[in-house]
Amino acid sequence: MREIENLKKVILEEYPRLDLESKFTFQCHKSVACFNDCCGDVNIFLTPYDILRLKNRLKISSGEFLSKYTISPFDKNLRYPVVLLKMEENERKSCPFVSPDGCLVYTDRPWSCRMYPLGLASPKSDGESLDKEFYFLLQEGVCKGFHEKKQYTVAEWIKDQGVDQYTEMGELFKDIALHEILQKGEMLSPEKIEMFFMAAYDFDRFRDFVFNSSFLKKFDVDERTQEQIREDDAALLKFSFKWLRFALFGEKTMTIRREVLEAEKRKHE
Ligand code: SF4
Ligand code: SF4
Repeated sequence: MREIENLKKVILEEYPRLDLESKFTFQCHKSVACFNDCCGDVNIFLTPYDILRLKNRLKISSGEFLSKYTISPFDKNLRYPVVLLKMEENERKSCPFVSPDGCLVYTDRPWSCRMYPLGLASPKSDGESLDKEFYFLLQEGVCKGFHEKKQYTVAEWIKDQGVDQYTEMGELFKDIALHEILQKGEMLSPEKIEMFFMAAYDFDRFRDFVFNSSFLKKFDVDERTQEQIREDDAALLKFSFKWLRFALFGEKTMTIRREVLEAEKRKHE
């Protein structure tokens, strides 16, 4: 994790800042000499929406996906739990989804795989020192894609790689992961970390928690929302984010049932 912090510092201080109209030359295809070389021994942080896409692609539950394909490193400096794609235990430390023909989950590949060779620095991930987000080019030594002739603007690349499908969920997740309370250095309790992990990453378990605990007796969730979160993972994930803002930061994103509030009040009379 320290290496990642150091890289962040170098990016902020030294990397040229790109905007949506900035141009760069790059192409990746099966005939490049380095084809697949970047799909191994790499830190790929997974967002909740990455997990949603991948576990549905593989037709498994979020819990099975997390235990089979990810690791969650412990670091006392982390403000919230993170999930990384677990590389295979072979010499190349290959990504579990790489094949001689390329990525086996290409249309559902994670956000960071889509973005490469671009990175994004946002003010929230840097606390106070950055006033505006910017893109930058990550030029990995092994990558021959920069010797190709095709030119893109940043906006064209984002569209071409389908990154925009990930934007809405990404922004909702940033509101939690980079919340000002965490930015101020407040650490989450172990119970809150466990809740964060379940609701943001293991959302099939979170669904079970909503429908098979006293959750719906305590919180007023209308019928339509209940139907949506029962059937639709994207709706469930949006609901998880609302719940986390309430459970972790005390925001008024959930409605407590009146009878529960009245019972609480009576207890203190
Ligand atoms: S998910 Fe696909 S694109 Fe990303 S590292 Fe693995 S094989 Fe490569
Ligand atoms: S190293 Fe670069 S050019 Fe080679 S496969 Fe990876 S992204 Fe494509």
